[in-house]
Formats: sequence, C-alpha cells, structure tokens
Amino acid sequence: MDRFSASLTHRCGHALADVGAEFDNHEANLIRAAFRCPQCMAEVSRRLGINTQVYVNLQQISPGMAAFVAEVTDTTDEMDDLLAAVGYGRRSKSADELHPGVEVGEPGQGVVWRKEFWFATNADPRHVVALIDHIKLEMRWLSPYLPQGESSIAFFAFPA
Ligand SMILES: [Zn+2]
Repeated sequence: MDRFSASLTHRCGHALADVGAEFDNHEANLIRAAFRCPQCMAEVSRRLGINTQVYVNLQQISPGMAAFVAEVTDTTDEMDDLLAAVGYGRRSKSADELHPGVEVGEPGQGVVWRKEFWFATNADPRHVVALIDHIKLEMRWLSPYLPQGESSIAFFAFPA
C-alpha cells in the first residue's frame, strides 16, 4: 500500500516529501502539510535576512529532573506558527546548563522557541538513549526549514 502522505501537498503546492517510516509517529509529520514546504520556508527566511539558529542542550530542570532542550532563535511568522503547532513554547533564552529560560507570553528581544524532553536523572539509561534518538529525529525534521540547514544547529552551545 502506498504511504498516504504521497498524495498530500504543502500550502505552497509542493508535494510532501517522503521523510521515512521513522517519522510516522512524529507529531510534525502531518502538521507540516498545513505549512509551506521546508525549502520554501528556508528561502523566505534567507530573503528576509532572518538567520534562524537552533541550540540543543542538556539542562538540569529541577532536583532529580533533567531535559534535552532545543531553543530556536530568529524565526519568521510562519516558522513561529509551525513551532507552536509541534509543541514549542516561548521562553527567554537559557543562560547555561543550570539556568533554563523562563516562560514568556509575547515575542520580543531575547525570546526563543523552546521544546523540552524531560527525564529523571536516575532513569534507565536506555530511556535516555531513546530520548537522544528522539531529539536527533527532531533535528533531522527541523534542519531543512533552517536557512543554513544542518549548520544552523549547535549542540552544547547557548543562544548569544
Ligand atoms: Zn514549497
């Protein structure tokens, strides 16, 4: 049987790319059809001179809880809508591994889109490895939307 996404198009009219079965359970897999395709969105960012960057880190969230965290800076309005639709929320920029950004309601200077993947610090290592795989998948999904692709993603660095 054909994968059902083959007949879907993005809002820009370009066909939905087959991203592979590992994305079948990813929350962005179907939602992406409501937006322009990654290439068109990256092109809009480049034309506007908006250099979207992603920072992936491991943070201590509370005693006993840590999280892999992605923070996205400098986004277009459409990218805002896409990130909000797949579980990112507006936060102030994190300072470092021990000081996560705080919740903010409105866009503005120093505000990023943030998504967290929590785990207990005494969790089974296999659970942590599964979360690492999940955040890698998240970055594989996100990178085509970024004006500089994969090179827009930094690991273990924080937004300036
Ligand atoms: Zn397109």
